[in-house]
Amino acid sequence: MRLDTYGCGCQHNCNYCYARSLLHFRGLWDAAHPRVADIEKVRRKIRSLPAGSIIRLGGMTDCFQPCELQYRTTYQAIQEMNLCRVGYLIVTKSALPSSPEYLAILDKDLAHIQITVTCLDDERTAQYEKASPPSQRIRAIQTLQAAGYDAAIRLSPIIEEYMDFDVLNSLEIEKCVIEFLRVNAWIKKWFQGVDFSKYTVRQGGYCHLPLEEKQRIIEKIHIPQKTICEDVTEHYQFWRDFVNPDKEDCCNLRKHHH
Ligand code: SF4
Repeated sequence: MRLDTYGCGCQHNCNYCYARSLLHFRGLWDAAHPRVADIEKVRRKIRSLPAGSIIRLGGMTDCFQPCELQYRTTYQAIQEMNLCRVGYLIVTKSALPSSPEYLAILDKDLAHIQITVTCLDDERTAQYEKASPPSQRIRAIQTLQAAGYDAAIRLSPIIEEYMDFDVLNSLEIEKCVIEFLRVNAWIKKWFQGVDFSKYTVRQGGYCHLPLEEKQRIIEKIHIPQKTICEDVTEHYQFWRDFVNPDKEDCCNLRKHHH
C-alpha cells in the first residue's frame, strides 16, 4: 500500500527518475512545485486501514523533499499513523527523518526507514540528484540505526560503476536493500559511463543484467543483512529462495527487534 504526500513533481528531480520519465512527456511533472496532498483526505485514508498494515510513504515521489519543511504533510501523516497504529515504510533520499523533530515522532514499533543512495561521492551525486548529499544520508542511517530504528541503506539502483564498495563496506550499516538498474532509452540518456552492453536480459520493456552478473555484484557488498528488490521473475525467485533473509518479504521489514 502506498501513500504519497506530494505528487506530480519532486524537488530532488533526479535525472533518472522513473516517475519523472512517465509524467514529463505529458507535461505533468513540475519539479519546483509538487502538488501537496490534502491532509484531511490522507487522514481519512489512514483511519480506514486495519491496524498492523504497513504503508509505503513515497511510492511515486519523495515524501521528505524540501517542501516538507513548508507544508508538513508527511509529518502530520506520521502523527496520524502513530495514533492508528499503522506501520510505515519511509523510502527517501533525504536526511530529514534523522533530524530531532522527526526522530521525536518516529515510532520504533511502526517506522521502517530506507534511505537511498546511488553513489557515495557528494559532488558526483549532485550532478544528477538534488537531494541531501550522500554523506548526510549515510549519517542519517547511522543515527537511526544507533537509535534502535529499523533503518537500511537502499542501493537503488545499484550501479557498479558508481559505487565505491570499500567505502560502502566500512560504514557499519547493518541492513541493505538492493535494487538493480533497469535500462530503457530514458535511463541510457542519463547515466554516463555505464556499460549498457552487459544489460542483455529483456523483460517488461526494460533491459536487465543477467543473474550471474547480479550475483557477482551482490558478493561485493559486505553488509550483514542483504535483501534484493527484484522485478525479473526468475531472478526474484532465486533471491527469495537463496539470499533474502525473509522469503515472504523482500523488503525485510519484519526481522527487526529493537
Ligand atoms: S527522489 Fe525519487 S521521486 Fe524524487 S526525483 Fe528522485 S527518483 Fe524521482
